[in-house]
Amino acid sequence: MKNDKLKQYFKSEELLGRGIYWVENTVIKTTSSVTKEGKVKVLDELKNEVLRCKKCGLHKTRNKVVFGEGNPNCVIMLVGEAPGREEDLQGRPFVGEAGKLLDKMLEAIGFSREDVYIANVLKCRPPGNRDPLPEEIRACKDYLMRQIEIIKPSIILTLGKFATSVILDKSRYEFSRLRGKICDWKGIKVLPTFHPAALLRHRGWKKEAWEHLKLLRRLYDEREERTN
Ligand code: URA
Ligand code: SF4
Repeated sequence: MKNDKLKQYFKSEELLGRGIYWVENTVIKTTSSVTKEGKVKVLDELKNEVLRCKKCGLHKTRNKVVFGEGNPNCVIMLVGEAPGREEDLQGRPFVGEAGKLLDKMLEAIGFSREDVYIANVLKCRPPGNRDPLPEEIRACKDYLMRQIEIIKPSIILTLGKFATSVILDKSRYEFSRLRGKICDWKGIKVLPTFHPAALLRHRGWKKEAWEHLKLLRRLYDEREERTN
């Protein structure tokens, strides 16, 4: 191990109270006993790294990096696509029109933003909100994977075809088949649903989205019953 790696190793061990190891900037082993403070600190370290990132061309046009935010001890993590105009200006996820709808969707099943953690596949805005490019996803994906590794949610709600395809490693054309189905990814329950921006454009999809949300609530409650 190189010197700086060794330093990072010990620093992280100290922060997390043993049991979490970073090698080549990736957490390779964790235990469930990581404290909330430990998670916050390691997420902060990662955030500082992402704020400086220039791994893809989007760094040239972004105003602010949108790292993600929420409760690091959450059961449910939400994964969106990429920041839009408002998110790029504020540096926070889902604060525009789609975000307002997302808040209402969460509220409808008894959750608030403080209960969940929200992150996107891309941390910088594609100009004009165009679709993410494969090379941008390749460059940025590792940050999302590390966020999930640190937070360790039991359930991930993927919002739309990009988030679903990245998390489940499927073609984005499989979204229509996967949405509303509980999938397993590394022991985490993944539930693909519509992106709220898509629901704003296609009102007719809301009925099906409501079924997904009720399923999300059921997954959460079943998990609560098991741990009580
Ligand atoms: N759409 C997304 O996918 N993410 C955001 O943060 C905002 C809009
Ligand atoms: Fe880096 Fe991701 Fe932003 Fe590209 S989108 S510059 S990979 S943080």
